[in-house]
Amino acid sequence: MAKRALPVVQSNPTAPATHDAFRAHLARLADLRAEIELEPLPTAVRLSGNSKTGWSINAPLSECEPTAECSRVCYVLNSPMGRFPDSLRVMLRNQRLFDSLEHADQSAVDAVAYGLAHDCRRARVDFLRWNGSGDLSPGAVRVVNALLRIMPDMPIWCISRKPSVIEQLSDAPSLRLQISIDRTTAPSRRDALQRAAKRFDRAAVKFAYTRTSEDAPAPDFIAVTFNYHKGSKRSSWGPDATACAATVPVSEGGAAHDNACASCRRCFAPRV
Ligand code: SF4
Repeated sequence: MAKRALPVVQSNPTAPATHDAFRAHLARLADLRAEIELEPLPTAVRLSGNSKTGWSINAPLSECEPTAECSRVCYVLNSPMGRFPDSLRVMLRNQRLFDSLEHADQSAVDAVAYGLAHDCRRARVDFLRWNGSGDLSPGAVRVVNALLRIMPDMPIWCISRKPSVIEQLSDAPSLRLQISIDRTTAPSRRDALQRAAKRFDRAAVKFAYTRTSEDAPAPDFIAVTFNYHKGSKRSSWGPDATACAATVPVSEGGAAHDNACASCRRCFAPRV
């Protein structure tokens, strides 16, 4: 597998200005990446644990094409996974492997996917969140598609804001694609995402919305709304049938944070 340098830059240079904290995070990633590139090329994708969403594959935020609002409220920036160097190294090593697979032989992609399937079985993963942080890239999509084929009974809950990579995902029944937008998503991007969503017949595709203020409710086509909150301080914005219960105050019927997704499963429910 060919070694390739990892550009840690915002992937979409025409996106609205990113928040200072997000840019500072990218600079930190660039420093760590310089260390990672001195290591041998990884041969395995690493699973990460998350107290709310369970097992996930994490990529660095350098793969994101953030909106202005997304870069301002990104949960990764304020979470342990975004602060601890060891967590960031896991993301960077995953991404280095994904980038090496973008143009690799299918046998190399399959070898990585079989290794990940083995790790998922050993950890008894019964759904896998892909992009606990970051976004998809072409090499990552190849691994997702191989894993969908190898483990057809394991739902892969894939999060993305990038139409170009969404279009490369296999239309498999165990793909549970969640496409994220917010109030600063450009209309042209929103249209492109909606067009990309239409090509799926067998995968379950849902739109999610990050709500950052009381006066910006989710549009009609949104399936899941994430009310912005920092840590355990959740906002009280009244009833909303699409709200993720783990983002609603517990005093108003919200769910506990820990293991919320394994109990709820709404985001990665099968197509009906
Ligand atoms: S709606 Fe349910 S599955 Fe989706 S993020 Fe919230 S708790 Fe998890």
